[in-house]
Amino acid sequence: MASEIPKLFGTSGIRGKIGSEITLDVAINVGMAIATYAGGKGSNIVLGYDSRTSNVMIENAVTAGILQCGCNVLKMGMAPTPLVGYATMKLNTDAGIMITASHNPPEYNGIKLWNPDGMAYRQDQERVIEEIIHEKIFKTVSWENIGKIEEVKYVVSDYIKDLLDQADVKPGIKVVVDCANGAASYLSPIILRMAGCSVIAINSQPDGFFPGRLPEPSEKNLQELMKVVKATKADIGIAHDGDADRMIAIDEKGRMADFDKLLAIVSREIGGKVVTTVDASLCTDKCMDEVGGVVIRTKVGDVHVAEAIEENNANFGGEPSGTWIHPNFCMCPDGILSALRVIELVQKYGPLSKQLDEIPSYPTIRDKVTCEDHQKEKIMEKVEEKLHIVLDDVVDVNRIDGVRISMVDGSWVLIRPSGTESFIRITLEATSNDKAYMIRNQCADFIEGLL
Ligand code: MG
Repeated sequence: MASEIPKLFGTSGIRGKIGSEITLDVAINVGMAIATYAGGKGSNIVLGYDSRTSNVMIENAVTAGILQCGCNVLKMGMAPTPLVGYATMKLNTDAGIMITASHNPPEYNGIKLWNPDGMAYRQDQERVIEEIIHEKIFKTVSWENIGKIEEVKYVVSDYIKDLLDQADVKPGIKVVVDCANGAASYLSPIILRMAGCSVIAINSQPDGFFPGRLPEPSEKNLQELMKVVKATKADIGIAHDGDADRMIAIDEKGRMADFDKLLAIVSREIGGKVVTTVDASLCTDKCMDEVGGVVIRTKVGDVHVAEAIEENNANFGGEPSGTWIHPNFCMCPDGILSALRVIELVQKYGPLSKQLDEIPSYPTIRDKVTCEDHQKEKIMEKVEEKLHIVLDDVVDVNRIDGVRISMVDGSWVLIRPSGTESFIRITLEATSNDKAYMIRNQCADFIEGLL
């Protein structure tokens, strides 16, 4: 039964510490499983990795698994995640594999899988991979059918060309880019330069110890970048995470952009239909209202955003984490293209600080109510059935991810059981402070009344 199969995949592929969770056995098994799933003998699988110390070791184990099942490995070597997604699509392959732990500390690594159209594996596909590994139903081949290795670095020039065709940047913008010593170190600064920007690159030597800063693009880790942007009088700073599927911008005053506001101004510029997650700010809705656009909400996680983009034929999609998908380019989130999109805005409308400051801030509350695990399901049912009666001016109740209730002025509250702790989480955003506290109290009282 599916429920008895041990879970390997988390919210973003397989992720864990090297040696304990991410082992050579896991890597060989994933190699064999994806080769089996992708079609067995003769299939082609793209394989790339970020800048971590454990990458070549894991790459070799995954490669061995793939070859043993008669599939060919198309080696990208070190590459940002978006390039692996792009290559998987561009080279008409059967699957892609990225060895990365994204923004996690250096002792971590992970494996993320990609579909032929450059979209991440969905949960149901990950379940099949887990099942193949658990049941050991690998399609291994005999000695004369073992797969081959081909280097496909040549696809980098196609990627750069296609990416530059997407961008409309004219010379003159001064950018400081911080690659976190990660996978985009060789690529992002060059692409920004080729796009016409004047570029200062920091932390742009790949290094698995991440000596410049940790790969999470958080305010704490971006202090140096903020200082360099100000000191060099740059127009903008760009920070990637370790595998560059994400980016965040620093404005010309050296302040880190609010993730939601950045998503809002880019969404407004693209217009049409935009997908974002249930926990994203209503500032995106307000910006899309200005241009007659539509916001579609989906579950948290970049693969859910990608799925909703496909289902709704949307123009753009992103999570407030800075993971943005540009569907007319590729279904894989691309932090380099995201950077180009923000640079275009600076060029077109002037200082980023001004554009961001014009977007209103709405009070947000994140709270939690203690709740035993066995009570969670019953409480969530009651929340879905009855909480909207307690709240004022409710226009929508949905269960895309937890229970999300939205009100006529755009205020919303999301009630979700914690997956790992004994809590029910309350996340909300409201049009005023008073309203925020009122909603918080109404929700907390309602849930506590059920316990
Ligand atoms: Mg990442």
